Amino acid sequence: MKTVLITGANKSIGFETARQLLQQGYYVYLGCRDIKKGEQAVNQLQAEGLNEVELIEIDVNSIESVTAARKALGQKTQVLDVLINNAGIGGGIPQPSLETDITFFKQVFETNLFGVIEVTQAFTDLLRQAAAPRIVNVTSGLGSLSLHNNPAWKYYQIKPAAYVSSKAALNAYTIVLAYDLRDTAFKVNAVDPGYTATDFNNHSGPGTVPDAAAKVVKAATLGLNGPTGQFFSDDNAPETGISPW
Ligand code: NAP
Repeated sequence: MKTVLITGANKSIGFETARQLLQQGYYVYLGCRDIKKGEQAVNQLQAEGLNEVELIEIDVNSIESVTAARKALGQKTQVLDVLINNAGIGGGIPQPSLETDITFFKQVFETNLFGVIEVTQAFTDLLRQAAAPRIVNVTSGLGSLSLHNNPAWKYYQIKPAAYVSSKAALNAYTIVLAYDLRDTAFKVNAVDPGYTATDFNNHSGPGTVPDAAAKVVKAATLGLNGPTGQFFSDDNAPETGISPW
């Protein structure tokens, strides 16, 4: 049975990604920073008959927590097939580039970039034990530098400075990571789930959580000939699904 660790999985897109991967027969380690919320999420999945799931406490902002989570997972399995870096924060809008406090920028980067790097580095040894390891970094269409420079783009005027910068940086990390793992069986991709109705945006997004999670699941379950080092986004590129960086 293939194993997957998903960060920020107690609700919304992360939770639904867990549900869909359980339905596909994966064993899911549900990464949650709040044990109570995590237990509720596990209970909900098990009440649906999806039993191959257990909680891993992980706050991606804390190296101690990430280290403890790696230790805990290592006591449960020696092989991790899929890592989904889903935990992220938006911080609300607007975030003007000149007025947004640097402390706020650092908070957003802490979760959306540094947390992803710490988690990825901590779990890569377990991923290397898998025959076909997959890493999915959940990014945003707003992380595209090319499109932020294109006045015709539908989200051209949506520029929360800290969030955009953090997801653009996450995209950069993803492409370098994919390059560094190019001679291995790893597939490393960035996935934009699309503008989706969740707590993240006070449910303003037009997309549904199941559709968003399906995009993440697709990248998590890529076959041997699947792409690596790509930025998938239906929002940015409805025809090809591949966004410009
Ligand atoms: P959400 O409803 O706000 O859920 C975010 C999840 O991340 C929650 O489980 C939250 O845990 C967790 N989280 C936040 N900080 C964490 C930390 N330091 N350590 C561990 N977990 C943490 O957001 P969502 O809409 O599902 O978004 C998921 C991902 O999709 C994010 O990376 C986001 O940037 C990306 N995305 C979303 C949209 C959208 O329209 N929704 C669009 C593009 C990209 P708590 O419940 O404990 O807070």
